[in-house]
Amino acid sequence: MNRVYNFSAGPSMLPLDVLQKAAAELVCYGESGMSVMEMSHRSPDYEAIINDAEAMLRELMNIPENYKVLFLQGGASTQFAAVPLNLIKRTGKADYVVSGQFSGKAYKEAQKLGYDVKCVATTKDDNFDHVPTVTKDMVREDAAYLHICFNNTIYGTKYPYIPELGDIPVVADMSSCIISEPVDVSKFGVIYAGAQKNMAPAGLTIVIVRDDLLDYAEEKMPTMLEWKTMAENGSMYNTPPCYTIYMAKLVYEWILSIGGLEEMKKRNEKKAALLYDYLDSQDYYFAPVKKESRSMMNVTFVTGDADLDKKFASEAGKAGLKNLKGHRSVGGMRASIYNAMPYEGVEALVAFMKKFAEENPKA
Ligand SMILES: *Cc1c(COP(=O)(O)O)cnc(C)c1O
Repeated sequence: MNRVYNFSAGPSMLPLDVLQKAAAELVCYGESGMSVMEMSHRSPDYEAIINDAEAMLRELMNIPENYKVLFLQGGASTQFAAVPLNLIKRTGKADYVVSGQFSGKAYKEAQKLGYDVKCVATTKDDNFDHVPTVTKDMVREDAAYLHICFNNTIYGTKYPYIPELGDIPVVADMSSCIISEPVDVSKFGVIYAGAQKNMAPAGLTIVIVRDDLLDYAEEKMPTMLEWKTMAENGSMYNTPPCYTIYMAKLVYEWILSIGGLEEMKKRNEKKAALLYDYLDSQDYYFAPVKKESRSMMNVTFVTGDADLDKKFASEAGKAGLKNLKGHRSVGGMRASIYNAMPYEGVEALVAFMKKFAEENPKA
């Protein structure tokens, strides 16, 4: 078995230790005599798993006690609707920053529901090559919340700051940067994330919500989208994505075992620096993102020649460096270097980039 370096933006690499532990426990979990996949979600064995998963995530992210942690289904995209449905009643209107495709979708979803939503800042005219600077005076005083996408997976940008809005809660989509480094949860009203980028296989969505924000759900709220119902039922109003939660638990355990998010950040910074330093040191490849907005998780670059870009992704794939093609909407290349990507994977990528540049001189 030869594992490749998989630079996919999601679903994406999982730590090898985690996969091996899951494999060892796949058929019989502990003394239970069955697989986690076969367990009742109401069984004591499974309750221990979901409780541990929550406790570990709380420890990792240092989540304050007045925040609920929910394990949901539907992906981050379902939260694009759930966010306004759960919060709009606070004041009746909400503000959005559009810094890329997913934040644009979140904004559109709230519009589709017929709400008074306003895009208060966007970097669309700059091809989303940086994130906007958002200050309190830009946001409507009576906005129920401000929605942002903290790390823009497709463009490779990330907020280098957290908007400071006083009493207006910041709601952040952290799908592609959650648990990549420490973050002050108390600066946010709600954090949500699809798990398949940096936490687990697909099928799980994490919502971290301040408990005073649970009381604004719409009357006609679909029960499955109501955070309060899920919080009151310990994410078990219905069957949760049991196995994916178990995998997330193994991932949290792995991060705790290496030293938590401080250590994770160090490793991620080292990987990103290797790639960005190389990009900055030559002129064959070009990194379109402005330096202050660079993502540590998704690194985008181009050769400036669409045919060469195509050749690059194809030859890299043959060399065991998979999924380096940029998102279909933007082209070029994207290396997603989430927590599970080892330093050696980025070293191999940089070595390949040098070789490719030598072997394919530009006209
Ligand atoms: C992948 C992604 C999404 C969409 O996630 P789904 O779980 O597929 O719905 C939303 N936001 C961000 C930032 C993403 O990276």
